[in-house]
Amino acid sequence: MSDTIAAIATAPGPSAIGVVRLSGPDTCTVLDRVFRPKNGRPMSRQEPRRLVLGDVLDRDGQVIDSALAVLFPGPGSYTGQDCGELQCHGSPVVLDAALAAMLAAGARQAKGGEFTRRAFLNGRMDLLQAEAVADLIDAETAQAAHNAVGQLEGVLSRTVAEIYDGLMAIVSRFYAVVDYPDEDIGDLQREDMLDTLRRAENRLEELLATFSRGKLLKLGVPTVILGRPNVGKSSLLNALLGYDRAIVTDVAGTTRDTVEEKVRVGHVLLRLCDTAGIHQTEDAVEKIGVERARAAARQASLALLVLDGSTPLTDADREAMDLARQAPNLLVAVNKSDLPRAVDIGRLADEFDNMVSLSARSGEGVSVLCDAIGAMYPAGEGRPGELLTNARQADAVSRALASVRSARSALDIGMTPDVVLTDAEAALEALGELNGKHIRDDLIQTIFSRFCVGK
Ligand code: GDP
Ligand code: ZN
Repeated sequence: MSDTIAAIATAPGPSAIGVVRLSGPDTCTVLDRVFRPKNGRPMSRQEPRRLVLGDVLDRDGQVIDSALAVLFPGPGSYTGQDCGELQCHGSPVVLDAALAAMLAAGARQAKGGEFTRRAFLNGRMDLLQAEAVADLIDAETAQAAHNAVGQLEGVLSRTVAEIYDGLMAIVSRFYAVVDYPDEDIGDLQREDMLDTLRRAENRLEELLATFSRGKLLKLGVPTVILGRPNVGKSSLLNALLGYDRAIVTDVAGTTRDTVEEKVRVGHVLLRLCDTAGIHQTEDAVEKIGVERARAAARQASLALLVLDGSTPLTDADREAMDLARQAPNLLVAVNKSDLPRAVDIGRLADEFDNMVSLSARSGEGVSVLCDAIGAMYPAGEGRPGELLTNARQADAVSRALASVRSARSALDIGMTPDVVLTDAEAALEALGELNGKHIRDDLIQTIFSRFCVGK
């Protein structure tokens, strides 16, 4: 943390504005070498957090841009150190030259996530908030962004801190008992502790339950498109995507492999998987595709079953229906509504709760399908910021929960204080991993290495 890091913080490619940022003790010195303010004062004498106009100089001292600079003095900055930014014209040439000049002036190229890592190490945010920064930048729907910003503002951190403090109070009282064996815990105190443990258990259960939704929010709803060959699965996928991604042809079984695509349907992000047609086949390559279709159906949250409304149902259609019923949520799309109907829509509607008639070719009814999907995955369940979004978080919460449960039952059945203490301490440790209070250096390394440069 004693060196000064620099990185281009905006996306590659030309844009209106591009930002190069700095953090570290030499921020002012480095800025003074690459930036010449119009008002003639060195950066250390500029007003903090206020944009100043000036010239950006490249390594040779030549003016390469007319830009704005700003200084965020530590410890009240993002990283807790002196930070600075150059807001340049967003030309990759300009940004590269500005960065090169900073490196020549003594800064070091920042590694992925290094700014946020410094913020974490300086106590500007906890690990949950740091992970929220990455989630926010990667958000693919407004809902995902709402949750990430809530987590960044500390919603989840405060919940965790509350549970932590409650457990800590128990641990401290038990230490007193272990140290002074004469000082038995009274019944009142015991009831009080049981209460705290029960409440912690409930909160942790609630938190853990948010993970399934958080996962769908962040990664998308695993969705499988099922149906026998030629009903229009690839055409529907393309209609949803709005562009041609999979090959669509008239030959049965052309879609041999599975393709995966993310598509935003209203507020829902779908991770769509097109599959080879579900039917009996001797073709070896085709068989692999069918096997994959079965696996995909088992792993999916949503099955989109496509039927061809212009031809009578076949055994292969029935087979696809059976497969589709294996997924937790099922939506039937009766396709080719632009052609004369040959299936009994009324009977199908008796059999399936969620059914939409549409034409992947003309686009008619596709928006109705999208609305039906939105209704299956309603927005706004759970408090934004309180959904767990990654396996690391869920794992730590489930370990904390297991320890709290065993502490509670140990206290319930009147085990000796040291047994309860051990469990309560294990729960504290898991929570400390969750918010980064107690976490191994190598784990921190791994977490931040997934962030991109400039973050
Ligand atoms: P898949 O094998 O289930 O993926 O089916 P495809 O998407 O490859 O479509 C099979 C054939 O049906 C192609 O010739 C498509 O152009 C045609 N098709 C797909 N959807 C429609 C539709 O809504 N109306 C009509 N008339 N033809 C369609
Ligand atoms: Zn296909």
